[in-house]
Amino acid sequence: MNKIVLIPSRLQSERLPEKPLKLIGTRTMIEMVYEAASKSVADKVTIATDSESIFQEVNNFGGDVVMTNPKHANGTERIYEAAEKMGLAGEDIVINLQGDEPFSDPKDINNIFKLLQEENVEMVSMFTDHKDIKKLLQNGTRVAYGARALTKGGYHSRPKMTFPGGILVGCDAGLMVFTKIKGTHTAMKSGMLAAESAFEAISQNRIGEDLIDFEERLKSSWIESDLYKSRNMTALLHKYGTLIGGLIMGIEQFLFRGKLPFTWRHKTPDYACMKKANVCEKINYPKPDGVISFDKLSSVFLSNTNHEEDQPCHLTLKDSSIPISVNLPEYDEPAQRYCPAGVYEVVEKDGENKFQINAQNCVHCKTCDIKDPSQNIVWVTPEGMGGPNYPNM
Ligand SMILES: Cc1cc2nc3c(=O)[nH]c(=O)nc-3n(C[C@H](O)[C@H](O)[C@H](O)COP(=O)(O)OP(=O)(O)OC[C@H]3O[C@@H](n4cnc5c(N)ncnc54)[C@H](O)[C@@H]3O)c2cc1C
Ligand code: SF4
Repeated sequence: MNKIVLIPSRLQSERLPEKPLKLIGTRTMIEMVYEAASKSVADKVTIATDSESIFQEVNNFGGDVVMTNPKHANGTERIYEAAEKMGLAGEDIVINLQGDEPFSDPKDINNIFKLLQEENVEMVSMFTDHKDIKKLLQNGTRVAYGARALTKGGYHSRPKMTFPGGILVGCDAGLMVFTKIKGTHTAMKSGMLAAESAFEAISQNRIGEDLIDFEERLKSSWIESDLYKSRNMTALLHKYGTLIGGLIMGIEQFLFRGKLPFTWRHKTPDYACMKKANVCEKINYPKPDGVISFDKLSSVFLSNTNHEEDQPCHLTLKDSSIPISVNLPEYDEPAQRYCPAGVYEVVEKDGENKFQINAQNCVHCKTCDIKDPSQNIVWVTPEGMGGPNYPNM
């Protein structure tokens, strides 16, 4: 097993053209990044580029460089091609280091290698490792990867759906029927009802009004009864857990078809239900075996996620100190584990913990926006249509 740092580097940059070759003092940015990586515990540092000028510059300072296809949409694709060209083996640990961070601290890189070697943070691996699941997946091929948070609150969690000039429909309005995990029908129907409300308002010249009649239309449609039947599911699971809650739900749904004259409510928001780390037992997830369970980063590659490199981080923090001062001591900073794309990391720098956000990997599942126990992460729309591209999902 070798520890490899791969640095994707290209000349194009909207904000700072030819960025890797810009001088910082007397040396180019790419040389400084290379030097920082070389001071880490990495066995090999290589730059992957499609630019002849970068290739030449790396040769000049005596670095290792590999030429890659100019058509790659992002750095991740580039390092996969480079890894293949370099003949890296499945067990090698590869870090994708950004080519525009000339002041990278080698200790940070060492920490990431340490994390990748020691930590097993793959809950999916725990699932796929179960003997009954393993049986189903054996001899299969990993073809795609993606993630999406479900708006499962349902009947009792719906917000006010109308406001002057707008109507919330579909999953934005919490209309998914959680017992079936189906919401395309309610999304389409609520869109049709919203169109009816809008059409009526426009024909009566009521422009920009709060179209409250929409909620009446919704109440008299089958959406209301469909949602009502599964009103208890979220509350039962939250209040009594998957075992007992699931049992009551089974009786309520399959025997009484959601018609029991009881309503269970659970008013605590999802994020506030998170238990403190000191009352939980640390779970040692099995290491991904690369056959039926995989590390997050290689899976994210299959989601075709791409974000323009030169843009502000779309994962914003209301208070940048909270991840380390509150979330880490109280909850062992859960973003490190719940994010399906490995976006959030706690790394050690100069003896101190730092919260690192690898926003370019974000698959837009929106879990962090909902789940952060301090409600400190605010997901904003990234620039330039960035995000995952799921052709088969
Ligand atoms: C794993 C999974 C399986 C499911 N299986 C089923 C099933 O079998 N049957 C079923 O009926 N339902 C299923 N659902 C639920 C169903 O997918 C949703 O209820 C439904 O897609 C909701 O439709 P929507 O139009 O309201 O929202 P979405 O389908 O989520 O559409 C919202 C769109 O808005 C885009 N968007 C978000 N933010 C912005 C922005 N800032 N700017 C521009 N665009 C933006 C998103 O990219 C997305 O394309 C499933 C959901 C999941 C996660
Ligand atoms: S950063 Fe947030 S929205 Fe993006 S993949 Fe991770 S949890 Fe999902």
